Amino acid sequence: MMGALYDGQVLEGGAVADISSDQDLQEFRSEVRRFVGDHVPEALARRILLGKPASKDELLAWHRALFEKGWIAPGWPVAFGGTGWDISTRWAFETELALLGAPPLIPMGLITVGPVLIAYGNEAQQRQYLPRILDGSDIWCQGFSEPGAGSDLASLKCRATRVDGGYRIDGTKIWTTQAHWSDKCLLLARTDVRGKKQDGISMFAVDMASPGIDIRPIITLDGLHVLNQLFFDDVFVPEGNLIGEEGCAWDILKSNIGHERILVSSPGFAVTLRRRLLDVAQRTDRDGRRPIENSRLRDRIVLLDVRLQALQATALRVLDIPDLTVRPEASLLKIRGTELHQDYTRLIGEVLGTASLPYDLEAMYSATDESNARFDAITPNYLFLRKASISAGTNEVQRDIIAKSVLS
Ligand SMILES: Cc1cc2nc3c(=O)[nH]c(=O)nc-3n(C[C@H](O)[C@H](O)[C@H](O)COP(=O)(O)OP(=O)(O)OC[C@H]3O[C@@H](n4cnc5c(N)ncnc54)[C@H](O)[C@@H]3O)c2cc1C
Repeated sequence: MMGALYDGQVLEGGAVADISSDQDLQEFRSEVRRFVGDHVPEALARRILLGKPASKDELLAWHRALFEKGWIAPGWPVAFGGTGWDISTRWAFETELALLGAPPLIPMGLITVGPVLIAYGNEAQQRQYLPRILDGSDIWCQGFSEPGAGSDLASLKCRATRVDGGYRIDGTKIWTTQAHWSDKCLLLARTDVRGKKQDGISMFAVDMASPGIDIRPIITLDGLHVLNQLFFDDVFVPEGNLIGEEGCAWDILKSNIGHERILVSSPGFAVTLRRRLLDVAQRTDRDGRRPIENSRLRDRIVLLDVRLQALQATALRVLDIPDLTVRPEASLLKIRGTELHQDYTRLIGEVLGTASLPYDLEAMYSATDESNARFDAITPNYLFLRKASISAGTNEVQRDIIAKSVLS
């Protein structure tokens, strides 16, 4: 029994992850493996599997390869460039990519902005923005949170004042993921200060090259630059960049955030963390012992496995719901997925012990055998993943949403 659990078969090739023995699906899995083998350099895949980051150029090269193949946006409707895959195929695709160390895609354009524009953008906006998201020409960031407006986002103060031909934006946004790489920003700004605070918020597509935008880095606990604070000083946005009606961003926002929550729950990422845990647990130490021989560690691995299986099964059910926008399932997945990611990194760190402590920024970007042996990125990963229960809406707030929608 234990052999089956820790040799990696149960979850990676077993009943839950591999939900169908259908011949076509097996062939599709093989095609995905070949594709990743052809387009993701081995050293990059090794680095991703060890929790190390990819550069912007590496991420964009992978994005373009998926675009050329027609596999870039499985979640979009076919008419807009989606794949039209059924749920089993999407699941097989995402699981294979995670297991093979394919780099994660730069998320905002594909996961949040695209679906928003498909649902609420006008035809001109769809024509202008969607193809450039698909082919990787434009990277987007999401300018929602402000100092003082996170969980209570409706309190946001960034102003959009109507002027001839458009709006002028003044204010600040914080925690803006990958803004320093971005060409465009999906921005929330207040167009009306009267009445209910939710009713005065509008959504804009903002060109990041506009005069008056200042981007300042925020370095996270792992030492990397992913986050930023943005300052808008009298930034002009043409009126054609308003998405939906003026003052109607709140309804758009509710649908947008559901997609992001499902993204961050990532069962695929949990599977790769599990594989890292099994790998370090089976290494032989200086005394010739392997951590996996400890029955208390095995118990903890099994408990995480049970949670992973539950996450995978729930994700499969949820992916099948046609409109997930305001459903509590998105919140449930977000809580369970992010807690599991955090617990895997904690246990990997415990198993590695003091070997997990050194932090080496150069080795973070290197995948040589020597640097991989010298440096396992688990401590930076553990530190960075403290954010998982905060971003995309804190887990406390998700529990509130579930309580209100299911228990009341
Ligand atoms: C790594 C990372 C990336 C991010 N990326 C982006 C991005 O790209 N774009 C963007 O716009 N934002 C982004 N965010 C911001 C994120 O959405 C907010 O941090 C989050 O919504 C929490 O808001 P806050 O930080 O203001 O905390 P607060 O809302 O001040 O919360 C502080 C604490 O109070 C608790 N709390 C607050 N309200 C309640 C309540 N009603 N019930 C119970 N507990 C409550 C919270 O759970 C939390 O523990 C990112 C954040 C992080 C950490």
